[in-house]
Amino acid sequence: MALRRIGKPAPLRRVKSVIAPVSAPLPIPSVQQTGFYYNLTPPAVRSGRAALAIQGGRIVGLGPSEEMAAQYPDSEIVDGRGKAVFPGLLNAHTHLLKTANRGIQEDLGFPTTLGFPEDIRALMSEDEENVFALLGALEAIRCGTTCVLEIEQDISHYAQGLEKTGLRLVLAEYIEDLDPEEARNGVYSYPQRLLEGGLQRSADLIETWHGRAGGRVTCMMSPATPETCSPELLQRSRDMAERYDIGFTVHLSESYDEIQAVMQVRGVRPTQYLHANGALGPRVVAAHCRYLDDSEIALMGQTRTAVSFNPAIAARRGVAAPARELQAVGCTIGMGSDNMDENMIEVMRTGLFAERVRLNSQMDPQPEDVLEWATRGSARALGLEEQVGSIEVGKKADLFIIDAMRPHLVPNLRIVSALVHNGQGADVVSVMVDGRWLMRDGRVLTIDEADVVRRAEEMGHSLWRRLLDRYPDVPFPFTLPPRG
Ligand SMILES: [Zn+2]
Repeated sequence: MALRRIGKPAPLRRVKSVIAPVSAPLPIPSVQQTGFYYNLTPPAVRSGRAALAIQGGRIVGLGPSEEMAAQYPDSEIVDGRGKAVFPGLLNAHTHLLKTANRGIQEDLGFPTTLGFPEDIRALMSEDEENVFALLGALEAIRCGTTCVLEIEQDISHYAQGLEKTGLRLVLAEYIEDLDPEEARNGVYSYPQRLLEGGLQRSADLIETWHGRAGGRVTCMMSPATPETCSPELLQRSRDMAERYDIGFTVHLSESYDEIQAVMQVRGVRPTQYLHANGALGPRVVAAHCRYLDDSEIALMGQTRTAVSFNPAIAARRGVAAPARELQAVGCTIGMGSDNMDENMIEVMRTGLFAERVRLNSQMDPQPEDVLEWATRGSARALGLEEQVGSIEVGKKADLFIIDAMRPHLVPNLRIVSALVHNGQGADVVSVMVDGRWLMRDGRVLTIDEADVVRRAEEMGHSLWRRLLDRYPDVPFPFTLPPRG
């Protein structure tokens, strides 16, 4: 791969999609909902003020404040002094319900079932599923995320609750046909009933949800992982994605266990196995891609498969995926948080750190690169690039605003760098999707935050207690807090 710079730093690319810092009164939606604009000064425009106009859920104008004010006279003004505006972050790989596993699963590696015959997901009531989905959504919104690719079994149980959060959603029913009981004894068998059941659940989800909420909700196919999916499941998932004209996502090269199993059962590496069954290509988002060899990286590029680079969870597993190499061969790079975490600011920072350490580079990637991956890159991977992923006239108004005057962000010389290196989720003060505020001046408007947090705390303790009570003979390395 071509390392971009050795010796003196090359000039930084200007990221056109980032507008900051806001330096003048910032207009807000009028009571008549005719639109709004705000005044701001992008870093590249040091003289004068710029403004952004939003109407009907879209960005309709971007230019000098006076011009915007004249064009949209009925708009309300948001005071944006000391604020910075970014395109919303798109999480291209997550499992919201895994927020229930916080504090346990970060530290024990694979397999994530920790030796239990089932995980707490299997014990969750629909009420618990809904609460943890909302808990994840809360963290996502509070950290500037405007879109998530949610991958889970039985998403229909909580899709309605999730839709009400106002987030842009890509819902993917997680399906696999490996018999889990047999697999525990080292036998790989793929019963037809699991395959048919999974495809049916996927079809039901797509028929019900794809295109809902004015197009804010879309769907994808999601065969789970190479070792848990038969060739027939992969091929039929691909056929369904083509028939519905939707995307397709799959975990790839997530663990040594996976590589070993696929080599043993299929005789090839996981990427080759996916390719042989039509499960790579521009429609596909492959998540993780941690242990790819050179032949697999080349295949990813030849097929133009998109990648969800999930560096925070990878770092917790002691590994870093070859994001730069995958980008160099032509893969679109998006970013995701995966398990136990919905903080995409942290994901960007970890991605920058992980790549610099892996490449032994003091400069590559730059903060603008990881922001690009987490916005436009994720949007392209999810098939949403024409709608979102940057602040441009004509695109949907999916964005977040930070308080740029926090001690760890000042001086605002390079606000993108300040956010990626030093930013915290709590710097995000407002979030908008489709022109609608999900969070405004620090308050989440679409979720009863106090109620969700209180219930999630109770339910999390209860779920883990139930698992331990059900399987008292399975060794568990931690001592849970006493019953409340
Ligand atoms: Zn995952």
